[in-house]
Amino acid sequence: MIDDNDLKLIEEAKQVINKNFDEVDENHTVGAALRCKNGNIYVGVNVYAVHGSCAEYIAIGTAITAGEREFDTIVAVRSPEKNNTLISPCGNCRQMLMQYAPDIKVLIQTEDGIQKVCIKELLPYSPY
Ligand SMILES: [Zn+2]
Repeated sequence: MIDDNDLKLIEEAKQVINKNFDEVDENHTVGAALRCKNGNIYVGVNVYAVHGSCAEYIAIGTAITAGEREFDTIVAVRSPEKNNTLISPCGNCRQMLMQYAPDIKVLIQTEDGIQKVCIKELLPYSPY
């Protein structure tokens, strides 16, 4: 079940990509918001390059840089021209989240609406 805190997290992800969306070169097209267990929220946008970084990496890196280590929930959304729809983490991000926060929850869009799932459900049988 998602709650008001989750809706606020989605709103933060929307705000950061809407503020930084790069419609000319499309270098920044996804926004992520990460809530720590203490309630603090960190955001990020993707950085596009041949070996660029997803928004989830930027958000978690920003949180870690600020000294955070306990993570509760993360969400990523697409650019405003794609209606800020939720985007589930790519394979690389799933692995990173599993290693940094094996009990983190992820907000994803499903046929039944927005769901909150554990990262372990998104990366079954992971050796790490
Ligand atoms: Zn990713």
